[in-house]
Amino acid sequence: MVITGGCLCKAVRYRISAAPIVTRVCWCRLCQYLGAGSGTVNTCFRKSAISIEGELCDYRSIADSGSVMHRSFCPACGTPMFSEAEARPHLVFIRSGTLDDAEVAKPAVTIWTSEAPSWACIDPSIPQVEGQPPPAA
Ligand SMILES: [Zn+2]
Ligand SMILES: [Zn+2]
Repeated sequence: MVITGGCLCKAVRYRISAAPIVTRVCWCRLCQYLGAGSGTVNTCFRKSAISIEGELCDYRSIADSGSVMHRSFCPACGTPMFSEAEARPHLVFIRSGTLDDAEVAKPAVTIWTSEAPSWACIDPSIPQVEGQPPPAA
């Protein structure tokens, strides 16, 4: 199995040689910045299965849990690409809009619903978690 994707301008491309672990919709406040007001869709993979070509910019922040987070984006076109937590170094969350095949990223759960605005469209057919869910793997 090979899953491919990249940024809008194609300066960053990646290949993944494993199936996704889970896809989540996230409505945390930070994701609303990345998602232009909406939540984000993120697909989790084992980091060992991904190879990346091209340069990334890294934005480092500290989550409410104290975990140091790295969110990377393409410096040329600004597309949000990856999210990684130092506490879970074996995982990478890919911004699902960068996948060549969006069907790979069917969400299984919506998280951080407590931070979503009243007008958010939240899929009632999948589970919802008010805050941070347990680790994906
Ligand atoms: Zn780009
Ligand atoms: Zn989020």
